[in-house]
Amino acid sequence: LSSRASAVLGALDIPTAREVPGVYDGAWSGSGEVFESVCPTTGEVLARVQGASPQELQAAIEKSREAYHFFRSVPAPRRGEILRQIREALAAKRDELGALISLEMGKIRTEGVGEVQEFVDIADYATGLSRMMNGRVVASERPGHSILEVPNPLGVVAVLSAFNFPVAVYGWNLALSLAAGNATLWKPSPTTPLCSVAVTKIVSSVLERNNIPGAVAGLVVGGKNVGEAVVESEHVNMVSFTGSENVGRQVGKVVQSRFSKLLLELGGNNASIVMPDADLSLAAPAVFFGAVGTAGQRCTSTRRLYLHQDIAPAFLSRLQDMYNKLKPGDPLAPATLFGPLHTRAAIGIYSSAIQRLKNSDAQILCGGQTYASSELPSELHGGNWVKPTIAVPTKVDLASDIWRAETFAPVLCVATFSELEQAIEWNNGVPQGLSSSLWTRDIRNVGKWIGPAGSDAGIVNVNVGTSGAEIGAGFGGNKSTGWGRESGGESWKQYVRWSTCTVNFSDEAPLAQGVNFSA
Ligand code: NAD
Repeated sequence: LSSRASAVLGALDIPTAREVPGVYDGAWSGSGEVFESVCPTTGEVLARVQGASPQELQAAIEKSREAYHFFRSVPAPRRGEILRQIREALAAKRDELGALISLEMGKIRTEGVGEVQEFVDIADYATGLSRMMNGRVVASERPGHSILEVPNPLGVVAVLSAFNFPVAVYGWNLALSLAAGNATLWKPSPTTPLCSVAVTKIVSSVLERNNIPGAVAGLVVGGKNVGEAVVESEHVNMVSFTGSENVGRQVGKVVQSRFSKLLLELGGNNASIVMPDADLSLAAPAVFFGAVGTAGQRCTSTRRLYLHQDIAPAFLSRLQDMYNKLKPGDPLAPATLFGPLHTRAAIGIYSSAIQRLKNSDAQILCGGQTYASSELPSELHGGNWVKPTIAVPTKVDLASDIWRAETFAPVLCVATFSELEQAIEWNNGVPQGLSSSLWTRDIRNVGKWIGPAGSDAGIVNVNVGTSGAEIGAGFGGNKSTGWGRESGGESWKQYVRWSTCTVNFSDEAPLAQGVNFSA
């Protein structure tokens, strides 16, 4: 192992001499498929992680059920105290875990650390929430009756997560799910197994110290087969799935067919709109971060840019300047702003998108190809490097995949408009509905944008880019993004089963609506 990698793994006590066990249900095991964790920056194999066999998976689900039966009776504020300790344990390893995210996923270090911070923040939030997960008392129409709406724990919540936020997405789910009194079983992305092992070690050390069954926060590393088996299991009461629209569509059907609870956080195809009155010195860097940050691999990355015709040339020239100065580098190095794509396969996705643009005569303003090895420092030659791209297609054709499909790579498509209504129509005219952003200083534009005829996305920002949400509000998207909401806001209400309890304190037993059924 390179010294670069062993420093990061060593700081988190991840032994790499032999296969790392990828199953935790109170004890560590793993005798199923072996997954290589490959560093996207250098191509170095970091470790081999052994996932769950079918028997280990079923045993882990069984252990999760038992853990739920224990945990649901732990008072909610006590569960909050466990979350507070998890928060402390994560914060103590923030830099080390942030570096591991950077090493294994490929995002730059400050974003890796930011991801751990998000977990810390949501754990704080859920600690407070544990004393505020209130139900309601509803006025009854019958004398001597009360109606209570009671949030009860739900059961086993499976969290299936994507590669691009290998820690935070689990954090959002775990924190709310534990506060609600559930057991959580995590099936992480098979290409970021070390992040999931490291997080589970930290969380389980807190659980074990408090004599809470470790399977309250279980882990099953695995690929498609393990994912399918988790989703199909009758013993899983809720599936929270974060990933692509294609897989989400299959997962949604299976979960729906067995009437389990479902939370979907799927792909985004996010637009920024810049009006002529916008402050370009704020808008341009925000679009730049939105489009090239995380090398275009955020669900909220800016993929479409609609510029008012009056400012389009000036804006594009600023943006191109920033693109031209961007240098690829090791995401672990402090000065790096642009890292690799996560997998070799993603280079193919990028190249097909570029080919599609070229076939349709789009103008390529920047990028449009992979780096020649002479353009890269030798230590990066084994990595997955593509040039961030700005393209101006000949027209906005919302039937074409150029505009409709989420390309999970740094490719930004640009068009100009003359009326805000046109730009909003383009913003809304795609299947996805995750994030959107309008740049303006005119309050009338803001009113249109956030109102009934405005953006139909779940995230509707003003003078804030499409990516970089805070945990306090609900996070999620509409339409083919799946309608799920995670993190803050009302999201916790999905992780419970609601009981409507009508209680009769009187000596009569009247029927509702005055129905008379006396013999
Ligand atoms: P993916 O859909 O390929 O994989 C997601 C997870 O599903 C992985 O754990 C994978 O192993 C598992 N999986 C694959 N096939 C399965 C099946 N048939 N049944 C059950 N599970 C299965 O997604 P990815 O490439 O890891 O992540 C990128 C995608 O995730 C992008 O589309 C991105 O927009 C989306 N994403 C969305 C959000 C959001 O909050 N909306 C956040 C992050 C990522």
